[in-house]
This record gives sequence, structure tokens and C-alpha cells, in this order.
Amino acid sequence: MTKRQASTATTTKTTAKARRRASEVSAEPVVERVPRRKRSVRPTTREADFVVIGAGSGGVAAARRAASHGARVILVERDAIGGTCVNRGCVPKKMLSYGANWASILSTCLSHTGGKEDWRDASVRVNAEVARLNASYAQRLNEAGVEILHGDARLSGADEVVVGNEIIRTRKTLIATGAHPLALPVPGGELASSSDDVFTWQTVPASIAVIGGGYIAVEMASILSRYGVKVDLLVRGDRLLPKFDHDIAAALAEALAAKGVRLHFRADVTMLSQANGATEVCYTQQNNPGRTQTVRAQAVLAAIGRRPSIAELGLDALGVQLGERGGICVDRQFRTTVRSIHAIGDCMDRNLHLTPVAIAQGRWLADRLFGKRGDIADFDFVPTAVFSEPAIGAVGLTEAQAIEAAGGRADRVRTEIKRFVSLENRFGGVAQPSVFKLVFNARSGRVLGAHLMDNAAPEIIQTFAVALRLGVKDAHLKTTMPLHPTVAEELFG
Ligand code: FAD
Ligand code: NDP
Repeated sequence: MTKRQASTATTTKTTAKARRRASEVSAEPVVERVPRRKRSVRPTTREADFVVIGAGSGGVAAARRAASHGARVILVERDAIGGTCVNRGCVPKKMLSYGANWASILSTCLSHTGGKEDWRDASVRVNAEVARLNASYAQRLNEAGVEILHGDARLSGADEVVVGNEIIRTRKTLIATGAHPLALPVPGGELASSSDDVFTWQTVPASIAVIGGGYIAVEMASILSRYGVKVDLLVRGDRLLPKFDHDIAAALAEALAAKGVRLHFRADVTMLSQANGATEVCYTQQNNPGRTQTVRAQAVLAAIGRRPSIAELGLDALGVQLGERGGICVDRQFRTTVRSIHAIGDCMDRNLHLTPVAIAQGRWLADRLFGKRGDIADFDFVPTAVFSEPAIGAVGLTEAQAIEAAGGRADRVRTEIKRFVSLENRFGGVAQPSVFKLVFNARSGRVLGAHLMDNAAPEIIQTFAVALRLGVKDAHLKTTMPLHPTVAEELFG
């Protein structure tokens, strides 16, 4: 899926025709193949108003919006259109998760039908959707008048981008090159797969050691275990999901353990090695550093964070400032230290790595540069979800963040926590609790944060984010009529 395409610059007009139809799609991941052009000896030079490097969530949004304002836009992409979200992130992950959910519902309630979800079969459906999205993105970009250039982009000046044999002189450049998985920094670390690799797997291993405790590690551990893989999850810290509320993270750890995921906390991985067809993961536990422990598994997945993809862009020579996390520093208008060069999305030094965030930044910037200045999205209440089973949805402050925001005064923060078994789980015959936690300003009653664990949580939290932005208080929740029977009603009345 991540293999690079043509290294020379190649323009695609209609990629839809070049793609396989959905019905023909196999479990083989489909990457758009772009015919290579013969290298011409002399470089060609052209002009543009806006060169966007990277056709991921942010780049596509910015390019289309700028073109709608009449700008001459060239969008450069070295891999498949749609970037991480479409090709090796949100979309294939969520679809695999749907498949896994069906499997668990069918095996619990309809076992007599033999209902079983299968990785290969699910991959066929995932790849069909990814192919449909690749084609539809390309088509919509073409219709908007954006020229797509395939190849590796490099900046050769403040107003100049080089792609293969083409030099583009441009008024503005946008870097939207995203991020890539961090390699595991221990001996044998190269034996570990990354999340990019998982989406290319034809079959799943019988067992896997997943290293990490963040979004990707938790989602993948949950998805893979539901496809029948024996999962060991090795977490360096003493809890899952450090960015989420501690009560919800603890509830999820219990739920995963109840579903058979073996959790190892305070586990510092020291080495990976191959032995008898399996991979051995050696780790020490922080409370007993002298004793090395081992997990053996058929495969290892490292999900330990992502690093901005900017190494080959030539930013050093231009004096574009980078931050301590290795990403591009920008001001409030997404300008780098070189005025004509901007950056948005995952390649920025400090940013939430979420698709809607990259899209909102791209659209706002394109409006600002080529159209009328629009309203900037509100980044204070960004809803987020972990698509595990059960899922987590959260918006606003965690309890710890709320106390910190109150200057350490825990008495200024009030929380309410509800644990209940949903009708869905009762129907399935599983006593899996759902957990809803609300964080309030103790004096005003304003809701500061909502943290939910239930499969419906991501859908609920999206709309609840509006309520939080509008300053919803406990009194509003008590006087809003609940809708019955739902899990969302547990927030009201
Ligand atoms: P990207 O989408 O990564 O796009 C960058 C593009 O730039 C890529 O296509 C790359 O090939 C191209 N590129 C890089 N360098 C060059 C170059 N020199 N020349 C030409 N092209 C170049 N977010 C959510 O909101 N919800 C989710 O459920 C979710 N799930 C995720 C699951 C996984 C496994 C991962 C890895 C991420 C997930 N994310 C999710 C995060 C989300 O995918 C990213 O935040 C989002 O894609 C960032 O968009 P972007 O435009 O900054 O970069
Ligand atoms: P995260 O930042 O979420 O988590 C990284 C995890 O890896 C942390 O638990 C961290 O532990 C651990 N870690 C870091 N270095 C090491 C190491 N050397 N050895 C062992 N563990 C280590 O990163 P992810 O890779 O999971 O995801 C990247 C980003 O992609 C996310 O931040 C998120 O924004 C986005 N994403 C969003 C999703 C969604 O919206 N549903 C799904 C997937 C990804 P410690 O806390 O100790 O540093």
C-alpha cells in the first residue's frame, strides 16, 4: 500500500478509468499505478499560484478550496490520493473494525448460523472502498481544476518546488506531507511491523505482540483480537491512552482483558529477536528492572507514535524552522519562518493528529490566501474517538486537565460517572459495562468534558461537542427529554 509510485513527475488527468472497478478488487491492496514518462534531458519550468505537497486529508481540502477561488493549483503526491486517512488510517481501520464487530455479534447471538468474519474477506471490502475513495478524490480534484502531479516534491527555493524533471514557480507553497510510524528504537526493532503494514496483510498471524498504549496500539489490539489473533499488549506506562480520562482508560483496559487481550503495563521493551519461526519480545518491568521477561508471538506491531514526513523536502537549506518534535513550526496563520511556505496537518510540530483537524486547517488557509477570510474552526472542543470494542468517545477536558485548569483546586471540579450494561450487551448475553463520565465546573455546573465508553460513544460525542461549545450545564442535561431506549439517554434526566 505504501510503495512509492513513479519517481519522475507524471500528471494524471482521469485516474478513475485507470483503477480497477470495485467488483474486481481483491484482497491485494490497490495502489494507483501511474505510467512513467521518459525522462527528458532538460527540466521544464511552469508557474502556479499554489503548490500543495501531499494529497492527504489536509492537502486535498486546501487544494480544492483554493481552486474554487480561482487559484492555479498543483497538488503533488508520491503515493495514493487520500493520504493516511484513506489508505492506511481511519477508513480501512474503521471498516476492519465493523467487520470485527459483526463477527462478535454473529458469534455470540447467531452461532448456529456459523456467522464468522474473516480477515481476507474483510480486506476485499476494505480495499474496494479505498479504491472507490482514491478514484472519487481524484475525480473531484480534476473537476475542481486541480492538477495532480505524481512524484516526490522537494523545495528548491522559497517560491520553487521540484518534482522529478519539473520545476514549478509558485506564489505560495503548502506542506501537507503528514507523518509516518516511528521505528522501534531497540535491537531487532526492524522485525516489528507498523500500522501501515497491517493494512497490506493478506492473512492475520495466530498471535501478535503489540507495543504501545496509544490510539493505534489499542485499536489494532482490539481489532486483531476480534479476528481471532492472540494479542499481548505491551505498554510502557502504567495505563492505556495517556491522553484520555483515567477512569475511561481503566474501564477499557478491563474490557480488553475480559475479551482475552493480555495487558503488560510498565513494560520497557529491550530487544526483539527471531527464534523458531516466532519473534521474541524481551522486556523489563519498571518495578523489577533486573528481570527480563519474554513474549513470543508470530508477529510484532510497534505503534509508538508518528513522526512528521519532512526529511526529504529540503527545508534545512531554506531556513524553515523545526520544533522539538521534529515537525514544522508555524504561526497562527500556518506560516512557517519562510513567509511564502505554509504547513498544516500531521507534519506540523504541535498539532492534533486527526483528519478533521487537517481538513479544517487546509480549508481555512486556502480561504485566507485566495478567497475571503473564513471563520477558524474551534480547536478547543475537538471530539475524538478510539475505535476499539467497546469504543471510546471524548470531548473537552479530562478530570485531571480540569483540575489543572482550576489551578490544582480539585474542589472546583465535580464528576459524575455512570456504569451500566446496555440493552445491546444484554441482548448479546455479555455483562460488558458501558461507562459514561462527565466533568463539571463545580460552581457553575458547566460541562467541561464528556468521556464515554460504549460502541455508540463516537456517534454520541460528535453531537455532544456542539453542546459543550455552546456551554451546556448540568441543568440543561436534567431538563432535556431523553430518547428511550438508547445508551445516549444515560447522559440526561
Ligand atoms: P496525510 O493524510 O498523511 O497525507 C500526507 C500525504 O503527503 C501522503 O499521501 C504522502 O504520501 C504525501 N507526501 C509526503 N511527502 C511527500 C513528498 N515529498 N512529495 C509528495 N507527497 C508527499 N484520524 C481521525 O480523525 N480519525 C481516525 O479514526 C484516525 N485513524 C487513524 C488510524 C491510523 C492507523 C493512523 C495512522 C492515523 C489515523 N488518524 C485518524 C489520523 C489521520 O489519518 C491523520 O491525522 C490525517 O491523515 C493527517 O492528514 P495530513 O493531510 O496531515 O497527512
Ligand atoms: P500515540 O501518541 O497515541 O501513542 C503512542 C504510544 O506509544 C504511547 O503510549 C507512548 O507511551 C508509546 N511509546 C512511545 N515511544 C515508545 C517506545 N519507545 N517504546 C514503547 N512505547 C512507546 O501514537 P499512535 O502511534 O498510537 O498514533 C499516532 C496518532 O495518530 C495519534 O496521536 C492520533 O492523533 C492519530 N490516530 C488517531 C486515531 C483516531 O482518531 N481514532 C486512531 C489512530 C491514530 P508514553 O505515553 O509512555 O510516551
